[in-house]
Amino acid sequence: MIGKADARNIWILIEHRGGKVAGVSLEAIGVARKLADSSSQEVWAVALGPGAQALGADLIKVGADVVLTAEDARLDGFRDDPYTDALTHLVTTYKPSALIVGATSNGKSLAPRLASRLRTGLASECVDLEWDAAAGNLVAVRPMYGGNVLATVVCPEVRPQLATLRVKSAPRPEPDPARKGRVEKADISGVELRDRVKVLEAVETGGGEVKLEEADIVVSGGRGVGGPEKFSVIKALAEACRGAMGASRAAVDAGWLPYAHQVGQTGKTVSPKVYIACGISGAIQHLAGMKSSDIIVAINKNPEAPIFKVATYGIVGDLFEVVPLLTEEIKEASA
Ligand SMILES: Cc1cc2nc3c(=O)[nH]c(=O)nc-3n(C[C@H](O)[C@H](O)[C@H](O)COP(=O)(O)OP(=O)(O)OC[C@H]3O[C@@H](n4cnc5c(N)ncnc54)[C@H](O)[C@@H]3O)c2cc1C
Repeated sequence: MIGKADARNIWILIEHRGGKVAGVSLEAIGVARKLADSSSQEVWAVALGPGAQALGADLIKVGADVVLTAEDARLDGFRDDPYTDALTHLVTTYKPSALIVGATSNGKSLAPRLASRLRTGLASECVDLEWDAAAGNLVAVRPMYGGNVLATVVCPEVRPQLATLRVKSAPRPEPDPARKGRVEKADISGVELRDRVKVLEAVETGGGEVKLEEADIVVSGGRGVGGPEKFSVIKALAEACRGAMGASRAAVDAGWLPYAHQVGQTGKTVSPKVYIACGISGAIQHLAGMKSSDIIVAINKNPEAPIFKVATYGIVGDLFEVVPLLTEEIKEASA
């Protein structure tokens, strides 16, 4: 276990693919910068796998003081086992005070394993992170009970203080070309990286589609859509808005859309500028994943549906009448 007195600096795990850094990693650097500045620590961006080195300059421009890279071919593409082993090694070597991971599918899978391995705590799905200078602790704020309560979590003694940061809960820092920093290479070639999973083929799903967690507009369909082929109506609206398509668990469980589209407690958490819920009743588990959207539009034929309680705008009507009209209007307006 790493003790408080031995630990220093704020680490961000950088998620990257094809030379592109995930938005939430950039958002996390912005948050880490604020924490580091208020506690005289450094921001370390940790990038693993092939391509890590090339990200160095850009990560420094957005706020990293140090970019720690481990360009190991065994870390090509995310898998829990080797990433947990590599990070456990790096963390025990360098002893960061805090480690922030994006609350993406990968981050949510990795962080609990890492916390368990490092015998530390984990604050998951945080929407805000502060630094308590007097106590020298990270103060993590995370929603609980379907977003009805905000809990403040601290990990007082053990380090690193591990947190996953919810996508879009902080702004992305503007690059500053004048910022200076250094890139440090970690040699992990002698570290055993277990790998119980063999990736045979990686298939891109929904090529060209906007990523659900990163979209400014999300159009979701629920059981009220009534079948897989009828989701074309939802897709058409999502495309007209240049947004992403989501779904309730009922629609996913019915096999109408893949799990990757599920919004809610056991799916993805989204916080777009506009969330349009079509034929979704508004169960608390669904609300947990979209309640923090700036504007919520609900389309439901039942005026008593609970979704209307959280909706900014509610349309009582048949989605098969309302959604195509909306799609046409949006297409015309943006033509
Ligand atoms: C542990 C746990 C975790 C869960 N996690 C999630 C989760 O991550 N995400 C999630 O979504 N759910 C989750 N659920 C399930 C959740 O409780 C609900 O069962 C689910 O959200 C219901 O989906 P729905 O709103 O699409 O379906 P329903 O509740 O059946 O609602 C369908 C709605 O469509 C309306 N409708 C029907 N036809 C039309 C039409 N033609 N036009 C307009 N409106 C129409 C109806 O009035 C109704 O309000 C979870 C449940 C549990 C117990």
